[in-house]
Amino acid sequence: MNRRQFFYSRKLMGAATAALIALTVLFVLAWQALPDGRLRLWFLDVGQGDAILMRFPAGEWVLVDGGPDASVLAHLGHLMPFYERELELVILTHPHADHVDGLVEVLERYRVRNLLLTGVKYDYAGYERLLDVAREGGVKLLYSSDGVDYAIGRSGLDLIYPGTMLRGRGIENVNNSSLVFRLIHGEWRGFFSGDLEEEKEVELLTGRAVSGGARAPMAESGAGEPGGRAPGGLDLSANLLKAGHHGSKTSNSADLVKAIGPSEAIISCGAGNSFNHPAPQTLETFRRAGVTVRRTDLEETIEVAVP
Ligand SMILES: [Zn+2]
Repeated sequence: MNRRQFFYSRKLMGAATAALIALTVLFVLAWQALPDGRLRLWFLDVGQGDAILMRFPAGEWVLVDGGPDASVLAHLGHLMPFYERELELVILTHPHADHVDGLVEVLERYRVRNLLLTGVKYDYAGYERLLDVAREGGVKLLYSSDGVDYAIGRSGLDLIYPGTMLRGRGIENVNNSSLVFRLIHGEWRGFFSGDLEEEKEVELLTGRAVSGGARAPMAESGAGEPGGRAPGGLDLSANLLKAGHHGSKTSNSADLVKAIGPSEAIISCGAGNSFNHPAPQTLETFRRAGVTVRRTDLEETIEVAVP
């Protein structure tokens, strides 16, 4: 081997080693990103708004609301492996900017199989844009009014409200159109109600807010439920509560919290937000009910791993 051949063979060896290291790093990253058989939730720190990413045990990704802007994309880019660009389901609880605007960005950049929404009539450009992008991208629109509870592997969604009453119709306070559901996984339940306010919470408790026939519980009530049946007969019990309306005092009534009976409540709100969310009254309600509170304005993104 002359000097020139020696030089090239060393260069080749160097390139091969670099390629091997790169492959190993990619392999380790991919291996780490594999689903671990647990349901994981991330309450994303998107400032003043809601965005909750979920990964189901078999690897499906679900996003509930998208926050107020494109900041949700950075979270998805960080939490989802770079080679996964598909969301099984996106849920829009209601079409206010702090829930819908980030979803437009997500639908423009990710393949979304299904979009679940109430179909409430509401005049807002961001909402129109979301529906346009969904139709252009061939996203399947699912309406809560269809009354079908959604199953993902052995987990699922128990759709509670609004039933059939809001599709294609307006409502005075669009917060009260918020899709309410329980996330069910084994014996574990999570309760999500968007920005639903107290007057509708009361109706959930009496069963009046739920239109007949639109919902059928997808899972039989399990043992060890933390709460109990509301007076109206609905099973609202859950281990975890996504606090209503960013911890506002207009939501999270003591009676609803009691009926849900969570051990943990997550408040999604922006640090130093102008609404003064969460309200001291809400924090007091949780304190009295013995509920542990976690807040995105204090902790940033909060991860919950369901056993
Ligand atoms: Zn909101």
